Amino acid sequence: MVGALGGVIGAVADRLQRKHEVDLRCGISVTALEGDDVGRLRRAHLSDGSAIDVEVAVVSLGAMRNTEWLAGSGVAAGPRGIACDAGCRVFDVNGIVTDDIYAAGDVARSPHPLLDYQFLALEHWGNAVEQAEIAAHNMICAGPDRRPHLWLPMFWSTQFGVNIKSVGVPSLGDQLVVAQGALTEERFVAVYGYRGRVIAAASFDGAKWLGFYEQQIASGAPFPPEYRTVDRRTETLEPIDPAFPDPGVPREDEPRFHV
Ligand SMILES: Cc1cc2nc3c(=O)[nH]c(=O)nc-3n(C[C@H](O)[C@H](O)[C@H](O)COP(=O)(O)OP(=O)(O)OC[C@H]3O[C@@H](n4cnc5c(N)ncnc54)[C@H](O)[C@@H]3O)c2cc1C
Repeated sequence: MVGALGGVIGAVADRLQRKHEVDLRCGISVTALEGDDVGRLRRAHLSDGSAIDVEVAVVSLGAMRNTEWLAGSGVAAGPRGIACDAGCRVFDVNGIVTDDIYAAGDVARSPHPLLDYQFLALEHWGNAVEQAEIAAHNMICAGPDRRPHLWLPMFWSTQFGVNIKSVGVPSLGDQLVVAQGALTEERFVAVYGYRGRVIAAASFDGAKWLGFYEQQIASGAPFPPEYRTVDRRTETLEPIDPAFPDPGVPREDEPRFHV
């Protein structure tokens, strides 16, 4: 969660897990699973040299973009995906947009106006479906009728009864304010700023507010927020560092969207 929402919110999720007696070990991985004579799982070996007795392992999978087959094809494809414009038209290796090759889904990365035209790839089922619809529409339309695909990333999860939801791109945030509620109560809305604009919001048991923040992101509302909010616990909205990990340092948890 540190990769997706930063260390400040990650610490809240950490507390939540430990409060419910989860033996949470961050920054280490499973190096081997050991079974007994009849093939039952018995032990997990960890990268810090320790081992724990276990009966069940939940394997969490990520995804890699299969773009190797496009090597030498002339399109702008690489490990981070296939570069295309907001209308899903693929760029060639020289950065010139093609007019007869389209990309959609996890593999497509395109410039997003809300992110200063940085390339964004989203790994969500709903994004793949909507982007494919846009690609199909644009294939059969003349220039002026083409539509852009400008999806905002969002995800949700429920942990120990707490609803966690995010909209926008928190990992771009250079500052964060707790606009509603309090981190200590595990009920809050944190708003992320990027170069003086609202870029994302994350809520713990506050999902009903995220539609509002979605509009704030879409309209490029100034950050820190200047309005008074409901359930505000401090008189000042003092921005703090959201504490995202250094992108240059490899991590074992990757966010489900990539800039
Ligand atoms: C473990 C896991 C859990 C997920 N959970 C969620 C979730 O809860 N909610 C959510 O919204 N999203 C979730 N996602 C993401 C979601 O699955 C993807 O965003 C979505 O499937 C993307 O659709 P897609 O069509 O772009 O790619 P894919 O579904 O990956 O389809 C691409 C297809 O292309 C095929 N292919 C690759 N290379 C070639 C080739 N050379 N020729 C022909 N075919 C090829 C692949 O075999 C694959 O079938 C999850 C992903 C993973 C890995």
